[in-house]
Amino acid sequence: MSTTATATATATATAGPTAVRRAAAGSVLVEDGDLPALQHWIAGAPASSTSTETLDVFDPCTGQKIAAVPAGSVEDVDAAVAAARAAGRAWAATTPKERSLVLLRIAERIESSAEALARLESFDTGKPLSVSGDDVAQAVDTFRFMAGALRTATSAAADEFVTDHLSVIHREPVGVVGVITPWNYPLLMAAWKIAPILGAGNALVLKPSEITPLATLKLAELIADLLPAGAFNVVTGTGPVVGQRLSTHPDVALVALTGSVGSGRAVATSAAASLKRVHLELGGKAPVVVFADADLAAAASSLRAAGYWNSGQECGAGCRVLVHASVAEEFTRLLVAEVESLVVGEPGAGDDVEIGPLVSKGHYEKVVGFLDRAREAGISAAVGGGPAEGPGWFVAPTVLVDVPAGAECAREEIFGPVVTVETFTEEDEAITRANEVVYGLAASVWTRDAARSHDVARQLDFGTVWVNCHLVLASEVPWGGFKGSGYGRDLSIYALDDFSRTKHVMHNRTR
Ligand code: NAD
Repeated sequence: MSTTATATATATATAGPTAVRRAAAGSVLVEDGDLPALQHWIAGAPASSTSTETLDVFDPCTGQKIAAVPAGSVEDVDAAVAAARAAGRAWAATTPKERSLVLLRIAERIESSAEALARLESFDTGKPLSVSGDDVAQAVDTFRFMAGALRTATSAAADEFVTDHLSVIHREPVGVVGVITPWNYPLLMAAWKIAPILGAGNALVLKPSEITPLATLKLAELIADLLPAGAFNVVTGTGPVVGQRLSTHPDVALVALTGSVGSGRAVATSAAASLKRVHLELGGKAPVVVFADADLAAAASSLRAAGYWNSGQECGAGCRVLVHASVAEEFTRLLVAEVESLVVGEPGAGDDVEIGPLVSKGHYEKVVGFLDRAREAGISAAVGGGPAEGPGWFVAPTVLVDVPAGAECAREEIFGPVVTVETFTEEDEAITRANEVVYGLAASVWTRDAARSHDVARQLDFGTVWVNCHLVLASEVPWGGFKGSGYGRDLSIYALDDFSRTKHVMHNRTR
């Protein structure tokens, strides 16, 4: 294994901190009246908490507090689960056609509020409006897809497998589903769960990330009149209280989490006591394997988005390049040119802003810590490498070069605007090293050799493998990981399946 092959040419430190384009003084993304009620949403209405504690929500561009939501209690979760249980029976009895119509109306409602929702999402997360606009559009498409897909769901044909005994196989809802979502795509990750869960005939209680609860609360308000009260409930609060109660509640049949590996482990452990089903979409560290015959310019320009979209706070981000040593210098030059021209700024600073701040102070410190330790380990940044200028939680888009195999920055999920570059010389070596991470969410392979692309894609141990592209998603295709990235699938008919259960009814028709 040639892990020491020199990747690149010139690793130059950036001259000064990356500039951050600021919104014009006095411009506002969200007026007070655009905020949702800062309460739980239970049984079709805002609900106050039994707890008087609150959790502050911050503007990542400035670090200023913008709102506070209830730090929900165990009793709040219990009330929401009771509401879901009460609504669930009638909702489960609706026909696929009826549920499909509801999901289509939800899609329309979100679409007609798209701009307001995108602004609210950017206000809460700091992400560029182009990213939050895309999140809203994808949320709409998720509801539309599930509205169609749920009508096609059928089970194995009824038949006689024992003489005079007719077997009927039903797909039915699992019951009340607990959902726990992350802060990187608050609205979209909620939509990825809500659409198939409701579509399959379940009721749900959703806990948004305590860091970014606003768009989820707004969504609950927005679609309230389209659903039976109690079919969709939101309880704000922390993971160890609200998330933990959802994972242990005896009336929750399945708990679905999108989040980090640590939270996944905590949820699976708590859920084990009641043997409830678990659906986990966890972290990632996607390798981008670039062979010598690849279209290097296409790979570099694809990584401009795939590595840095949402400031790299993306579980499928192409953040770990393994490039053939013979083209490493050329590829790195192309990638650095792409990254140097990324526009960093606040969401209100123009439609061309591509990179926003990181979502929270804690996450900013975590990402800067990774960069500091990489520097201390002798790894250089060809561009970026530390915080960007001014207030807020901005980090400069970074390319780390000449990264040795096994380095922390190439192994752990940084979840920031950071791409590492390693080199390889043999195909087997590239595959082995790509697979040598605890994660198994996504990967890409870049080559013009069709046979090799099939072969390598088959050997990469990841739930999604792209060939000559990266981070291209569609509602029709399943999304989910292997290994430490969890189990269960979002999107596609597989998500509908994950939120359903199979029942066999046998009729003795002997006369
Ligand atoms: P996180 O794990 O810190 O939080 C996710 C959610 O889990 C939050 O709502 C949090 O309150 C809750 N939580 C935390 N501890 C808990 C506990 N003990 N019990 C129950 N719930 C608990 O993750 P994050 O920082 O919000 O999001 C980033 C992570 O999410 C990254 O690792 C990223 O890769 C992953 N992610 C994965 C996907 C995917 O599709 N696989 C999509 C988006 C994000």
